[in-house]
Amino acid sequence: MITLAHFDTHPDFPVPGILFYDISPILADPALFREACDALTPAPGSVDIVVGVDARGFIFAPVVAQTLGIGMSMVRKKGKMPGDLLESDATIEYGASELVLSPNGLEGKRVLVVDDVLATGGTASAVGEMLARAGAASVRYAFLLELGGLPGREVLKDFVVTSVVEVP
Ligand code: IMP
Repeated sequence: MITLAHFDTHPDFPVPGILFYDISPILADPALFREACDALTPAPGSVDIVVGVDARGFIFAPVVAQTLGIGMSMVRKKGKMPGDLLESDATIEYGASELVLSPNGLEGKRVLVVDDVLATGGTASAVGEMLARAGAASVRYAFLLELGGLPGREVLKDFVVTSVVEVP
C-alpha cells in the first residue's frame, strides 16, 4: 500500500523553505505505480473526461482515462500549446504559473482533474476556473498526495476531492 514513506523528500527545493515530495520511487515500482493509478480512478460512468495538469498530472491522467475508456485533455503551462485557449494565472506553493486549456469538448461534461500534489490549491482552483468558463457541467479532483497544513482542501471545499496519501 502506498504510504508517505514511498515519497522522497527534498528540503529547500525548488526554493528555500519548501519541502518537495518526489513521486519517483512510486513510478519506479510497477505495483505501486499501478496502485496509484487505480486509486486515482473513480467509479466507471462517474465522469466524462479526464483533465491532466502539466507536468506530473500527465503521468497519471492518461492511465486513468484509458482505464475508464474515456478521453483526456491537457492543462499546459502557457506557451506550450497552440490554438484558441483559455488562460488562468495560478499562485502555487512555490511561485506562480500561467496555465492554458483548450475549451474544446468540455461543455456539459463531468470532468475529473488529475494531478500529483495538492498544496495551496492555487493550481487546482485555476484549472477549475477555466473549466467553468469552458462550460463543464461538474468538476472533481484526484491527487496522489495532499499536503496538510496548506489551504488546498479548504480552497476546493465545494468539490469532490480524493487524495491517495495525505501529509498530516
Ligand atoms: P498548489 O498549486 O500550491 O496546490 O501546488 C500544486 C502544484 O504544484 C501541482 O501541480 C504540483 O505538481 C506542484 N507541487 C507543489 N508541491 C509539490 C511537491 O512537494 N512535490 C511535487 N509537486 C509539487
